[in-house]
Amino acid sequence: MNIAVFSTKRWVREFFDSVNQEYNFEPHYLEARLNKDTARLAEGSDVVCIFVNDNADAAVLEVLAEAGVKMIALRCAGFNNVDLKTAERLGITVARVPAYSPYAVAEHAVALILGLNRRLYRSYNRVREGNFALDGLLGVDLHGRTVGIIGTGQIGGIFAGIMAGFGMRILAYDRYPRDDLKEQGVTYVSLEDLYRESDIISLHCPLTHETYHIINEYAINSMKRGAMVINTSRGALIDTNAVIEGLKAGQIGSMALDVYEEEADLFFEDLSDQVIQDDTFVRLLTFPNVLITAHQAFFTRDAVENISRTTFQNIAEWRESQSCGNCITAEAGYRSS
Ligand code: NAD
Repeated sequence: MNIAVFSTKRWVREFFDSVNQEYNFEPHYLEARLNKDTARLAEGSDVVCIFVNDNADAAVLEVLAEAGVKMIALRCAGFNNVDLKTAERLGITVARVPAYSPYAVAEHAVALILGLNRRLYRSYNRVREGNFALDGLLGVDLHGRTVGIIGTGQIGGIFAGIMAGFGMRILAYDRYPRDDLKEQGVTYVSLEDLYRESDIISLHCPLTHETYHIINEYAINSMKRGAMVINTSRGALIDTNAVIEGLKAGQIGSMALDVYEEEADLFFEDLSDQVIQDDTFVRLLTFPNVLITAHQAFFTRDAVENISRTTFQNIAEWRESQSCGNCITAEAGYRSS
């Protein structure tokens, strides 16, 4: 079984090679991201394995089908980067890793809140430079404050549990409220009420046509002045230009991002000796009250092990039965990252 593994990093190879001892597949590791120019590299492979910023749109899928590819094994949960209808038409099976560790992402969201609230990134640098002043590091107690969660699925639900441990009041908005979370003290409210009452707003819904730019100028103006915004879900949930205006005006008090709407050209690469061309991103970096990580929320040993194992299981299952429990169809409900 030949597998073309696009967007390979050292850690992908390490974990895949370890799991492959049980399977004896033939993975071909490619550093290139999958796109129209690189799709031909999959020639002779049965399976193409891709990640969040690879592009399997209709044009790319046509090339892959011509190259003999029969399956796309996503090594992530979301599938917004695959044109499922075209894949179905071309007879290419698509599988994903629906859950690998919701704890990893929920815990990273909490890390961002704590780091941002107490400006840990500033104090770390200051202390190393012998600057022990406290100005600019003032935070607030989380205890007793209100956190608003948009999307209470696997990750949002776990995040709610952690924030409850801090003694926070928890508001949530989801199309499908969960009784178990209500029993744990989560109060479901309208989006308007969530924006108006929350000190911290954390996004845990998928990217869909409905949620695209859910944090826009209107939402920002509806927020409590000085609110903290956290996005570990998907970059395009946030209208970046609108949040920049919100930060400049002080309407948004602080913001932490693990995802960015134009991240495909930046994240997962070492660009430290290059001039970053994305002026909007560079503007974000200038704010003292903005903390950005580069799509690392999922990146725990446990999560990466689960991702690798499930990806190989999906391929093995598909080889046996031409289908698998984690295969997705064009009717699949929504897009996520
Ligand atoms: P999930 O499917 O378990 O939960 C998503 C929740 O969002 C569901 O409860 C759903 O009802 C709700 N939802 C859907 N549309 C909504 C809307 N319009 N408004 C409000 N709520 C809505 O997904 P999950 O596993 O909890 O993952 C959530 C998101 O986290 C993913 O979609 C993905 O974008 C992101 N994610 C990020 C990383 C990372 O490394 N940063 C890793 C994994 C997942």
